[in-house]
Amino acid sequence: MTIPELIAQSNGSRRISYELLPPVKGSSIDTIFSTIDKLMPFNPPFINITYHREEISFIKQKDGSLIPSVVRKRPGTVGIAAAIQAKYKVDVVPHIICGGFSRQETEDALIDLDFLGIKNLLVVRGDGDKITGRFKPNPQGHRYASGLIEQIIAMNNGIYHEQYVENPTHTKFSLGVAGYPEKHAESPNADEDLLFLKQKVEKGAEYIVTQMFFDNEVFFNFVKRCRDAGIQVPIIPGLKPVSIKEHLHVLPRTFNLSIPSALVKEINKCKDNAEIRELGAEWTSNQIKELMENGHNFVHIYTMGKVDHICRISEKVLFDK
Ligand code: FAD
Repeated sequence: MTIPELIAQSNGSRRISYELLPPVKGSSIDTIFSTIDKLMPFNPPFINITYHREEISFIKQKDGSLIPSVVRKRPGTVGIAAAIQAKYKVDVVPHIICGGFSRQETEDALIDLDFLGIKNLLVVRGDGDKITGRFKPNPQGHRYASGLIEQIIAMNNGIYHEQYVENPTHTKFSLGVAGYPEKHAESPNADEDLLFLKQKVEKGAEYIVTQMFFDNEVFFNFVKRCRDAGIQVPIIPGLKPVSIKEHLHVLPRTFNLSIPSALVKEINKCKDNAEIRELGAEWTSNQIKELMENGHNFVHIYTMGKVDHICRISEKVLFDK
């Protein structure tokens, strides 16, 4: 089923979807299966798998010098998505990114996904490189997520990048995109950012998953601005519980978001990260309860692969424990 169909057929039932990372290179697929085993009792409507492009790492040599090397730390998104879908019979949404891909490579990846029975994709541009922070598109690839959406929608209409394709299959991909309640870091202002979000919807995105936020008013205001701008697709709030003290600085810097003073104050009172995890779980649970009370019944949690506190949140919210 597509995500908008799942939402439409949910009859207002409260559901939590989870976003997982592929295991680091060399790890067994069982590492992600054991994580999903813990999440399945909460009956997720879908599970997202992030995509991680190659990056430059500096490998330390015996003489202490550092040699730059291109590494892909978390490959396997496509295979893992298909394996999870087959094993758990849950809809899986692999992310597909512009970064590092030519249009031809994207087309081949889409053909793999279609053959594997994957219909839902989350289309994102991808992060900038870790050193400069800048996003540099592949010379034959897409600069913005909207270009990638165009390519996928063209395939849905039987138009392939490789012109020679005869009797082309019309794929049936359903696309979600990212939205930023506190605006994307590179955008000059929130209105400009909304303009391009609207463009992604006009090009074929059927729903939006938001960047994390810690103040529900920020999300409610974002939804209102989207609706006022004529964006009518479902908007799924994305949340992440704080779990370590470093999040106070890392999350705002990495994701261009703010952490409310009340939460900062409570984090600073915690004596260790175990207490911060409890506090984070409590804060996110309260956020989800309020979102659901206000009609946002589908909520998405960024797990970053660690799920014990996320299971406690899910229990609290879904089973009222
Ligand atoms: P875009 O929509 O392309 O926007 C990027 C910037 O360009 C924005 O500032 C926008 O306002 C601007 N813009 C858009 N179109 C135009 C245009 N035509 N002209 C001028 N400016 C324009 N990253 C990963 O690497 N892997 C993942 O799996 C991943 N999953 C994510 C999931 C979610 C739900 C979210 C919120 C983010 C995810 N990211 C992921 C991070 C994402 O790749 C970054 O936030 C990236 O910097 C922007 O991606 P985007 O798709 O929003 O980009």
